[in-house]
Amino acid sequence: MRAPHLSLRQSEAVARRALLEVERYDVSLDLTADATFASRTRINFTSRGGQTFLDLKSRRLDAITLDGDGLDPGQLEGGRFPLHLSPGSHELVVEAEMAFRNDGEGLHLHVDPADGRRYVYAMSFMDAAPSIFACFDQPDLKAPFTLTVLAPEDWSVIGNAPGTQTDAGRWEFAPTPPLSTYFVTLVAGPYHVITDSHDGIALGLSARRSLAGALDREADELLTLTRQCFDEFHRLFGIRYPFGNYHQAFVPEFNAGAMENPGCVTYRDAMVFESRVTRAARIHRATTIAHEMAHQWFGNIVTPQWWDDLWLNESFAEYMGNRVTADVTAYTDAWTHNAYARRQWGLVADQRPSTHPVAGNGAADAATALQNFDGISYSKGSSILKQLNAQMGDDVFFAGVVDHLQRHRFGNATMHDLFAAWERAGAIDLSDFAASWLHTAGPDTLSWEPATASVLRTSPAGPPAGRVHTFRVATAGAAGTWSEVSVRAAHGVTPVDVEAAAVVIDPYEDTWAATLLDRASIESLVELLPRTEDPRLRAGAVNALRTGIHQATTTSSQVLAVLESTLATEENDDALSTVVPWALRSVVPLHHDPTGAQRRLHDAVSRRLASATEGSDLQLAAFQSVVASTTSVADLQRWLDGHTPPGLHLDLDLRWAVLVRLATLDAVGADDLDRHLEAEPTARSRVEHARARASRPDAEAKAWAWARVAGEVDVSNHELEAVGLGLWRPGQERWTSQWVDPYFSLLPSLPTLHAGWVLGTAVRSFFPLTSLDPLTLQRAEAVLGQEQLDQTVRRNLVDLTDELARRLRVVDLSRTAHEEAT
Ligand SMILES: [Zn+2]
Repeated sequence: MRAPHLSLRQSEAVARRALLEVERYDVSLDLTADATFASRTRINFTSRGGQTFLDLKSRRLDAITLDGDGLDPGQLEGGRFPLHLSPGSHELVVEAEMAFRNDGEGLHLHVDPADGRRYVYAMSFMDAAPSIFACFDQPDLKAPFTLTVLAPEDWSVIGNAPGTQTDAGRWEFAPTPPLSTYFVTLVAGPYHVITDSHDGIALGLSARRSLAGALDREADELLTLTRQCFDEFHRLFGIRYPFGNYHQAFVPEFNAGAMENPGCVTYRDAMVFESRVTRAARIHRATTIAHEMAHQWFGNIVTPQWWDDLWLNESFAEYMGNRVTADVTAYTDAWTHNAYARRQWGLVADQRPSTHPVAGNGAADAATALQNFDGISYSKGSSILKQLNAQMGDDVFFAGVVDHLQRHRFGNATMHDLFAAWERAGAIDLSDFAASWLHTAGPDTLSWEPATASVLRTSPAGPPAGRVHTFRVATAGAAGTWSEVSVRAAHGVTPVDVEAAAVVIDPYEDTWAATLLDRASIESLVELLPRTEDPRLRAGAVNALRTGIHQATTTSSQVLAVLESTLATEENDDALSTVVPWALRSVVPLHHDPTGAQRRLHDAVSRRLASATEGSDLQLAAFQSVVASTTSVADLQRWLDGHTPPGLHLDLDLRWAVLVRLATLDAVGADDLDRHLEAEPTARSRVEHARARASRPDAEAKAWAWARVAGEVDVSNHELEAVGLGLWRPGQERWTSQWVDPYFSLLPSLPTLHAGWVLGTAVRSFFPLTSLDPLTLQRAEAVLGQEQLDQTVRRNLVDLTDELARRLRVVDLSRTAHEEAT
């Protein structure tokens, strides 16, 4: 059980900011004990006089003094210590015992199963800093931090600022430039560290010792990308990177993809690549590196005043990350990756009941704001900034951004400040643009009406956004020759002068809209789509099919027919890596004949595998798709024995992919899975082992999985997620149906078992999405009717309930279409 901590409300942050200026933090941490660490913080600040509070989420508060006078530690409640301050300068000293955590927040402790070594890293975002040190935890109370760390003697310790080991196990760090509390990090343990430099900036990479070989192999690419991005960001902004060293730490059990801590970025360590990966995974990593680097300027030098503007951070980093990767690295096709991997994330989020405007989304407190770190803040926001850039041009766009960065250097600012900077730089009045794209929620839907040869625009319910869309339409004649027309859609119906067999609206993502294909175009695309050599066009068409399923206007049969023909000859491994898992989740189980549908998808990717060049990324992506879709135990067993197709090697990732599939098909027992884990007990194996155990179709496996979300067995964040996704497998209703009710009964008390980021993960990964039963939907709706439900639980449950309802509609639609056809 966790004591509930209060989430900071915006009104409280405004009041505290009006009262305080923080001059400096000195933080000393003693990491030499096993389960807890000692934390001593000295804070120098001035106050205008009045009442406020300090944030501290400690296990035990040992002592607290204000200007040398002891205060009563017993006053700490709900993570807050009340302070009554006279006007003037003050010094607070806080000594506390803190707990290491295993949920990826605060000071996360990981014991590497491969060798028993202990690793620690700090994740202060977004309100976890007080579980590491006492502070005034809000983004607009910035101050320099000076860190001292005592650690076991064989550890290295890396922080935001350059540091040195001054004595055995004692590390002292230089003061940082002013930082928000959520940026403060350290990475400590017997990490394998690689150093280099570029343009006067000391570069570093680190990962657990058991990943040393992989990090050594990947270092050249990682450092090359880092150098290329630094050069480009320096060119674009004309402002030097100001945080000293630039270290990139690959850390275990990280919740997000990465975190942009100034001077010491932390990444999920799956990005070190122990096993062979596709180009899609490499592009994802490259854009993540560029994204985090963009934050060093936009977010770290100038930080949003409050979390409601954090979209701007993410939208900007997402846009710049894709752009810089495509412009200056080997991954010139980063925007194609974005089309496959990111676009639908934003569009789906924007069509959920929980949709919100990109900007000014009313993040009343920090916990609510965390839930807005979604596809809207990243993917949609990036698309809107890309449109804005196209409208004002690079010169004005960057002049405004640079003015903004210089004016608010090491401080905080708002969206209004940035828009004012753009207008000073020459942008025309941006209020219409902001009203159309940033202050309204939900995408318009653009669809093709063949009878009248026009584009129909349907706007979401609510206040009319009056958006004008400018985009290209790709059309194909019956012979399969594609051409492009530009369209400006300012009204509900826009005639377009074309005669075509297939029409794909906005395949190049010029605007932000959900797009649909008409029935005749879908039928034509079965023949025509495989014949286009334009990967962006194929991605655009597939995204329209995905929207068709999401809006329950396209049947699973229609989608399957296009995928079957296209995937069999697809040249882009990104398409296989994204579309096949989506089809297995969201198309196959909704088909009137799921077994037949899965076989057809499997046959298509098998044909792609057979014709792929040996050793190519495409072959690897096709093989991953074949493994995920096969029902042949004999094939899986043969691959597990090492007889993979020539050009492929059964490495850690592939071995566990095969084992998870065998487990799902009831062809490998729990004991055998345990033996595979013992033979190669890496952190990755442990997560995949958990997934495989939970995926077995038997009562013991599902109970084993359930014990982990119900808090009977404590597992780390990544294992918890894998177990939940393993529990619910399509076709296993005989063993899973009994867990539908316990899931909904558990939800109200789930916040006493899991907190923060992991709470959302638990709600999502254990939701019974495979239970395509109207009663399950009713059960979900009944829980949503409970007034006392925790906000994080509610927010996730609202969206999952919507997803289940949509799936049920597709099932109905597909069944009806099938009955009409036969
Ligand atoms: Zn980011």
